[in-house]
Amino acid sequence: MSPTLAAVLLIGIFVLAGALIALGLGLSRRARRLEEAGGPAAATGADAASPSVAAPPRPPALRDRLGKTRATLSRSLGALTGHRAIDDEAWDSVEEALLLADVGVATTSRLLDDLRARAAADRIGDPEQLVPLLREELVEDLAGPDRSLHHAPDGPTVWLFVGVNGTGKTTTIAKLARREIDDGRPALLAAADTFRAAAADQLTHWADRVGADVVRGQEGADPGSVVFDAMNAAGGRGAGVVLVDTAGRMHTKVNLMEELKKVRRIAERTPGALQEVLLVIDATTGQNGLTQATQFADAVDVTGVVLTKLDGTSKGGIVLAIEAELDIPVKLVGVGEAPDDLVPFDPEEFVAALFA
Ligand code: GDP
Repeated sequence: MSPTLAAVLLIGIFVLAGALIALGLGLSRRARRLEEAGGPAAATGADAASPSVAAPPRPPALRDRLGKTRATLSRSLGALTGHRAIDDEAWDSVEEALLLADVGVATTSRLLDDLRARAAADRIGDPEQLVPLLREELVEDLAGPDRSLHHAPDGPTVWLFVGVNGTGKTTTIAKLARREIDDGRPALLAAADTFRAAAADQLTHWADRVGADVVRGQEGADPGSVVFDAMNAAGGRGAGVVLVDTAGRMHTKVNLMEELKKVRRIAERTPGALQEVLLVIDATTGQNGLTQATQFADAVDVTGVVLTKLDGTSKGGIVLAIEAELDIPVKLVGVGEAPDDLVPFDPEEFVAALFA
């Protein structure tokens, strides 16, 4: 081989090796970018979403998420250490703690009456002893109702989600769909909020992310027909649970409530299928959220409340007001934006997290 040919060959080999290295670097950078962009906005398809679906469930510790409400309670209750006896000021501290945590005036006053009676019966003299007594009182106040989510004995189960826009309906549906899928029940999401095109897009996006099927209609389509189609599809696809997203706003409140009633009637056409009507309430809106919730509860027979965003608020005491004023059990609480950030509501765990 001539020296010139050998030199040309050598240069060729270097150029080829350089090109291969550059290609390899480019691919690994792209893979890293995709991995880093793994949030809801970035995951556009089932492939992008699959890492989050495959991740093992990681139930969040309630204590870690309720720091704001706990801090509010402990600031006011901490003042009890400065009192020598259970005087008016001591009771004021307890009252202030409950009101600041958004337990609401009526429920706070009832709880205080019970606490006074209990303190007298137990002959409590030390103000600091009011704290464990209050803790017991709260657990007892929340004890009793059935907080489980029910499934139809045979055929598909339907759970309807209602509530004001922005409260966290779509996110909650996705979180629950994922839980059902993990439990071996396929989930079908019905995009019955046809009032906003973005709502169906968002639900579809979440369906991809958690591995659920979705049924949607055109913008402005009859929401009842979406529910009807979803229930038919559920039979055909063997879906275990149909989770129905509904509108949270329409031209008027009357329109909205009438439409929700209609959606409910369609879901009831399959006997026994409709097992839950879940009202989603945003805990950060406190007592205002409660007023809105009353309107939904009056229109559709609500079976349970999902209280979202408990992680971002000092108003966690709203749980007590909801149960007292709406007489509907809080069944689940949302404590973050990730798919695993939804936990069944357990009064003892909740109260322990507020005082721990
Ligand atoms: P929708 O309009 O009722 O369907 O509400 P979305 O599901 O779109 O939620 C509205 C916003 O609330 C989104 O940014 C969610 O990520 C956020 N969100 C929902 N649930 C929770 C929760 O439990 N905690 C926190 N911090 N954010 C939540």
